[in-house]
Amino acid sequence: MIKINENFLKLQASYLFSEIARRVSDFQSENPGKDIIRLGIGDVTCALPLACIDALHKAVDEMADASTFRGYGPEQGYDFLREIIAKEDFQSRGADVAGDEIFVSDGAKCDTGNFQEIFSTDIKVAIPDPVYPVYLDTNVMAGRTGLYNDGRYDGITYMDVTRENRFVPDLPDETVDLIYLCFPNNPTGATITKAQLKKWVDFARQSKAIILYDAAYEAFIRDDSLPRSIYEVEGARDVAIEFRSFSKTAGFTGVRCAYTVVPKSCMAYTASGEEHSVHSLWNRRHTTKFNSVSYPVQRAAEAVYSAEGKAQVQELTDYYLKNAALIREEVSALGYDCVGGENSPYIWIDGNKDSWEFFDLLLKRAGVVCTPGAGFGRCGEGFIRLSAFNNYENVEKAMTRIKDALKV
Ligand code: PLP
Repeated sequence: MIKINENFLKLQASYLFSEIARRVSDFQSENPGKDIIRLGIGDVTCALPLACIDALHKAVDEMADASTFRGYGPEQGYDFLREIIAKEDFQSRGADVAGDEIFVSDGAKCDTGNFQEIFSTDIKVAIPDPVYPVYLDTNVMAGRTGLYNDGRYDGITYMDVTRENRFVPDLPDETVDLIYLCFPNNPTGATITKAQLKKWVDFARQSKAIILYDAAYEAFIRDDSLPRSIYEVEGARDVAIEFRSFSKTAGFTGVRCAYTVVPKSCMAYTASGEEHSVHSLWNRRHTTKFNSVSYPVQRAAEAVYSAEGKAQVQELTDYYLKNAALIREEVSALGYDCVGGENSPYIWIDGNKDSWEFFDLLLKRAGVVCTPGAGFGRCGEGFIRLSAFNNYENVEKAMTRIKDALKV
């Protein structure tokens, strides 16, 4: 008899986005013709940068000719991309990362979800609340948790992210082995300073733990004092893995390209304390289960680092940040406390009321869709997330409607 992995039965139905869709659809059928503006989405809306489009076209032409055609590429990514990533994203900022420490993939979702596979199932995992759900659910699937009780899985060390800690989790007061951090954060939009990140790196070094650092929104950082990479912090190379993505940086959500940095000096241990290279383990896992990102897509990603590509990516992220600034300004003027929106495309708003009640209010009175914070974890209750991924005209219209709705 074939048996299932019963850990999958512990997973909660992905209730958030289906419930949002249901409420929006009910509202639409009760109010036919009413224009709805979606500020709930985490997907980009602008077209790809021209430099990437040109690179894609050129690479497709190469594939059309047997003399320049490419079949399977190296699983870890082509050297032309790995080298430019290492130089432009890390070495240029004083972070010591080499090209052969970069693993190119088709998404930070897969990488942040898969990385836990190389660690033992009996480790202690620390996860922020609220959180991008992938970190939590993949640990549930792997069997690192007990059952779901009162909004939380038994066995996980939850790190509360609240107004009190300005949306940067405090160090756990127990020993943990694997720590998930994400900055700029989804869903809160909060950022972390180098000094704060240093405390995490020191904590991980002391307990021989590893930090999985998700920097998918790094391209939105405008405050130069903030770290763009965890490797800007001394000692991080030995205890941190970093995930990056071209999805939000360059509009690649539908193109698919991302990468993970695994420094060669990062070590993990057997039960008896024997040291092993995390780079070797991940290389083994990646080359066994992944067969590289397509050549045209890697050429498109490479184009992000050309002079034109850099300018176009800056323009793209500036556009979303202008939306974010408007949302932040208007929401603050209405007297709501919020975080994010300055170095991030997300604004996390304290609604002073039940998340779903606030969601319904914005939908019914303003025709605007947000994401209820409670969907990201227990500490998200009372908050909503607004996203800047829309066009400026829609954001302006949405904010005018929200102002009218909340003044009532
Ligand atoms: N990490 C975070 C924090 C995200 O919010 C997202 C997407 O929304 C991802 C990773 C996924 O990125 P990718 O499109 O590269 O899979």
